Amino acid sequence: MDIQNGFSGCIGNTPLIRITSLSEATGCEILGKAEFMNPGGSVKDRAALWMIREHEKSGALQPGGTVVEGTAGNTGIGLVHVCNERGYPCVIYMPDNQSPEKVEILKTLGAEVRVVPTVPYKDEMNYQKQAGRYADSLDNAVWTNQFDNVANRLAHFESTGPEIWAQTEGQIDAFTCSVGTGGTLAGVSRFLKQQNEDVQIVLADPYGSALYNWVTTGKATMTPGPSITEGIGNSRVTDNLAGAGIDGALQIPDQAMVTMVYRMLREQGWFFGSSTGINLCAAVKVAEQLGPGHTIVTVLADTGSKYQSNLFNAAFLDEKGLSPL
Ligand code: PMP
Repeated sequence: MDIQNGFSGCIGNTPLIRITSLSEATGCEILGKAEFMNPGGSVKDRAALWMIREHEKSGALQPGGTVVEGTAGNTGIGLVHVCNERGYPCVIYMPDNQSPEKVEILKTLGAEVRVVPTVPYKDEMNYQKQAGRYADSLDNAVWTNQFDNVANRLAHFESTGPEIWAQTEGQIDAFTCSVGTGGTLAGVSRFLKQQNEDVQIVLADPYGSALYNWVTTGKATMTPGPSITEGIGNSRVTDNLAGAGIDGALQIPDQAMVTMVYRMLREQGWFFGSSTGINLCAAVKVAEQLGPGHTIVTVLADTGSKYQSNLFNAAFLDEKGLSPL
């Protein structure tokens, strides 16, 4: 048995799981990187650890210093765990359109949570900008700035990418996932393309995001939304995403995502969140485009437990015109 050192030592080295029903249906290997098995429960644990380590290495974060972030939830959860382990207070700014479960988890873990009105990025009261200003106003505090701090994508270049390459023994034809900050897609893409430039990288986007248009037309203009997905889609190209080698993009409607997560739950036993639903839909589409015999890897970003009030709430779905069937 391997022994891991503490909370941080358990981040990464997640299993790569064959999604049996989707693999059988497409004749491809559809493999999911089980990021929900990180100790904080999501793909964002890696970014949280790498960003804190970077601020420690640079000396910006001294013992007892405060870590401030603007986050839709999972980065905050990862950060609070790592902060608790290392003795840093953690302050999280969050837009008010996120699920109440995530606010409660952050508070339970010990973060000071500041829920602020949801306004566009260009507005000075945007949650990310408020987080930056608050960190600046304190002594010995850092704004981890997940969107534009490239320690985020470095986490995936140094850990997720190499793990996927080793786990598939280099037999990988395509990688697809949705994008919030872009850290996962950009970091994994950079590593995989370095090993084999023919690996196809496909960005999976929900509606109400500008990234599908950015990849397919070069212009980051918004597509009509909204989407009930959380933590993915973006109106701008972040520093993490800029320069990433991306070969194509797919837009996944919410109904396809809902059908996917419910099928996974009822037929396969998996309890996934909405971004994972988008990712699996994209993996199936990529498999259909490539044809049988290919290996497609995607990300199982988090579980459904944070989305009981929306994705797994029949009344909520009904109100949005979505059906679990
Ligand atoms: N899925 C979930 C559940 C997330 O919380 C996030 C990040 N907000 C993502 C996917 C997107 O990951 P990234 O920020 O690396 O693009």
